Parts: sequence; C-alpha cells; structure tokens
Amino acid sequence: MRNGASIAELMLITAGATVAGLLMWEFDIFRDQEFGTPTKMIELDETLILAAFLTVSMLIFCWDRVRTVRKEVARRESSERAYRVLASQDPLTGLANRRQFNEGLAFAVAAPPGGERTHALLMLDLNGFKQINDVYGHNVGDELLVIFAQRLLKAARQGDLVVRLGGDEFALVLLQLAGPEEASTVAMRIIDTLKDPIMIDATHHFVRLGIGICVFPSPGETIDEVVRRADVALYKAKSEKTSAFRFFDDDMDKLVHERDLLEREIRAALSAGTIAPYFQPLTDLNTGKVVGFEALARWTSEILGVIPPDRFLPVAEEAGLLPELTDQLFLKSCKAAITWPVNTTLAFNISPSQLKDERLALRIIGVLGKTGLTPSRLEIEITESALVHDLDAAQRILGSLRESGVRIALDDFGTGYSSLYHLRNFKVDKIKIDRSFVANMGSELESQQIVKALVGLGRGLGITVTAEGVEDDAQARQLQAEGCEQGQGYLFGEAVPADRTQAFFDSQIDQATAVR
Ligand code: C2E
Ligand code: CA
Ligand code: CA
Repeated sequence: MRNGASIAELMLITAGATVAGLLMWEFDIFRDQEFGTPTKMIELDETLILAAFLTVSMLIFCWDRVRTVRKEVARRESSERAYRVLASQDPLTGLANRRQFNEGLAFAVAAPPGGERTHALLMLDLNGFKQINDVYGHNVGDELLVIFAQRLLKAARQGDLVVRLGGDEFALVLLQLAGPEEASTVAMRIIDTLKDPIMIDATHHFVRLGIGICVFPSPGETIDEVVRRADVALYKAKSEKTSAFRFFDDDMDKLVHERDLLEREIRAALSAGTIAPYFQPLTDLNTGKVVGFEALARWTSEILGVIPPDRFLPVAEEAGLLPELTDQLFLKSCKAAITWPVNTTLAFNISPSQLKDERLALRIIGVLGKTGLTPSRLEIEITESALVHDLDAAQRILGSLRESGVRIALDDFGTGYSSLYHLRNFKVDKIKIDRSFVANMGSELESQQIVKALVGLGRGLGITVTAEGVEDDAQARQLQAEGCEQGQGYLFGEAVPADRTQAFFDSQIDQATAVR
C-alpha cells in the first residue's frame, strides 16, 4: 500500500462494491416479482452487518483524511518556519539580517525603557575590508566576515540583537541598558575582539573598525533618526586612525551639515569650473632660474570663502568627485604649461586613491596629446602612502606613464614609513624632501643630518632632489651647499594664477648670485 490515503481508497472501493452488489440483488427481487416468482425477503441481520460495515469504512476513511490533512498542515508550518528563519537571517554569518533589524529597532523605539534605563543602537563598519577582498579574494573576505560575526556574538550580551546589515556593515540593538556606559562597555569588548588578528590560510589579517552609538529613544525620535544619528557617530569613529567608538552628539550634527554644504559647494564649483590650478615655481638652486611649476588647487567658494585644498580634496574624494576635479585641473594646468618655455616642467599632484584608477594613465596621456604638452615635461607627484595602498596597481599605472616619458616624483619624502623600499622597487625620477625637515634644518641637528642624507641618497641614485618649504636665504644656501639641486617655497614665490606665471620668466633674477 502506498500510504494512508490508499487504505481509505480500498475501503471505499470495498464499500462501493458491496452497495452495488446489494442493489443488483434488490433489482433481482423486483424482476422476480415482475415474473411472479416467489418474493425473497432480506434478512434483518444482513442489513445491520452491511450498515455497520459501511459505518466502519466511513470512519476509517474520515480518520485517514484527518491524518493526511494534519500531516500536510505540519509540513506547511515547518516550511513556513524555515522560510521565516531564512528571511530574517543573514545566510553567510547566520546573524539577524536587515529585516529583523528593522523589526527589532521598531519595537525598541516603540517601547521606551522606564526610569534611568536606555536602549542603544551600535552601527559598526570594518576599515580596510574592501582591500582584503580585493587582494585575497571574496572567499577570504567571506571567511573573515564569518569569523568576525562569531567574535561579535561573543562580545554581545545575552539577548542583544546582532545584525549583519550587508557587506562589512553590522549593527547591535541593545535593550534596557543601565546607562550609556553599558553601551561603551559592549563597544570596547567588540574592539577588543579584534586585537588578535584574524587568521585565514596562514595569513594574519589585522582588521580595524568604527562604532557609532546612538542612545535612544529621546521624545519624538523616529527609527530613521536613531539610525541617522548612529551613522553620524560612525562616520566620526571611522575617521580615527585606530578602532574607535563614538557617541552621537549635537556638535557632530553640525559637522555633518557643514560637510554636506561643502560637498554641495564642490559640486557647484565643478559645474562652474571655479576650482583652478595655481602655480608655484620650482627653482634651480645653482642658477636661480625657474625650472618648472607645481600646480596646486585653489578655490574660493562664494558661500564659504577660501577653502584650502587639504580641506576640500578629501571631501571631493569621499563624494567620488576627485576624478572629475583632477581632469579639470589637469587640462587647465597643461594649457598653462604649453605657454611656458619648452624646458620648463609641470608638476601635478595625484592622490593615493587615484592610483587604483586603471584608466588614469590613459586619461593623462590623452590630455597631453590634446594640449600638445610633451610627456617629458610632466612630473606626476605622488606620496608614498599611495604606493603602500596598492603596490601592483601603482606599479602598473606609474609604469605605463613612465614608459610614455612622464617623470615620477615622490612627494613629502621622508614622512612615509618605507621610503627606501619604494626607492629600490619603483623607478622614480625625483624625491621632494618634506618641508618639515627643511623648516627645522637651522634649529635641529637631526633635521639637518636627515636633509644631508636624503640629498646624498638622491645623488647616489642619480635622481633629482627638490627641497620643499624653502622660506629663507639661509635655508637655500645650506641646501645648495649640501648639493640639493632644486628648491620650492615662499622664498622663491607662492602659487600664482596661470596668467601670472609669465612674470617669473620675464624677471628671472639669478638666484644663484643672490644665494652666493
Ligand atoms: P604638497 O604637494 O606638499 O604641496 C605643497 C604645499 O606646501 C602647498 O600647500 C603649498 O602652498 C605649501 N607651501 C609651498 N611653499 C611653502 C613654504 O615655503 N612654506 C610652507 N609652510 N608651505 C609652503 P597647499 O597648496 O595648501 O596644498 C596642500 C596639499 O594639498 C599639497 O601638498 C598636495 O598634497 C595637495 N594638493 C594641492 N593641490 C592638489 C591637486 O591639484 N591635486 C591633488 N591630488 N592634491 C593637491
Ligand atoms: Ca606636491
Ligand atoms: Ca609636498
């Protein structure tokens, strides 16, 4: 027999056959009566047996149907339960997912704790996860997330809602805390779990993270507001160099609004093309002649006033506007440079993040072709941190630029943490000694010795050395005596707009004579 339903079917068939047989028999009786043969009487006990048989059959049938229906209901319930778990769980880490987060947070906001107690939302974001994914592949990235999720669960308290929101973003909803300090304790425990590196395939991965905390609910505070506040605090925490947690406060909101305004202003400036390169001369310390200019971005916002590049470049970078800004600045710089004498160079800064852009070299070479600037007149300035971030990409991009004849300069030299390694492994044409060494050369023996050593290093490797931040004659004389070829700084001139660069060539004063 296949299943319970078959028993029922069999009973039904049997019952049906019996009823049919009886009908046939009754039919025979009428036929017999028609032909006048003696009438057969149905015995009473036979009818009762038949009725009992039919009743039992029906009961068995009904019982069997009930059993089948019950089984079906249980099966459906269990698959619904499984579906509910899946729908509220992150499949990779097994933590709660965004859906459960939304439900949990909605519940928490709607149910404020009594007395001094409070709830807290912790938003977490790993630093450098994307890099691990890019370098070691997605499998390693996934494994790292799983291990981190397990550590997170250990750091959380019993009953806390621990969520993976997606990617490397996590959240914790902590209910009924004695006070904000309890949220900091959990945050510190989470940070502590990452003190030990995460080991995958015999490689240690050191992971940092930021935690933004919003203690809630305040009167009238919505779910969106709680999330936004925790995000603002997270943004602040992530700007720290080490793993950190930050509580939301109103000052942060002010900072965020300022940043938003700055971003909007940058967008408007990009549309209007009002961020322009200014040009600071690089001077030959022996002849006093201007050998080139470094393009430095300058911007005066109508609303915010003069904003230094150190301030607007990071915001442009975060907002994904740096490629567009660089393209604008580079085109303007090349257009200015072709008006200078043919042996003068244009130094142009490239930010670390741009060395991941595989099309950068092509774009630069394209603009050189379009404006007619010879590649050997261009010097790309990069800091060492740019090389440290993604060595392979940097090597590819800078390699192809160098093959086209473009020169590469290592900027702020001496402030990075592996200068000599990069000098050996990268073909660079110039080092620029950071202005902090030059500034202290007169007062600190160490700085003086460092400058001396760096000049010697450059000369030994046969590459040009430029000293940055030269502000007085004494510095220029000392640098020249050490054998440094080029100087840049307020002594020789600040950055000026393109239409004022020509003045440097017109009134070339012999700096070498001045220095001597
Ligand atoms: P940097 O490349 O090291 O540029 C030199 C900085 O030192 C400039 O600051 C310049 O104005 C300043 N400086 C020049 N001479 C002296 C001096 O004698 N004394 C002192 N104390 N400072 C001097 P600025 O223009 O504010 O630029 C700051 C940084 O912003 C630059 O540092 C560079 O890293 C970045 N930057 C500027 N323009 C661009 C750009 O177009 N693209 C990129 N990616 N970065 C840029
Ligand atoms: Ca520079
Ligand atoms: Ca520099």
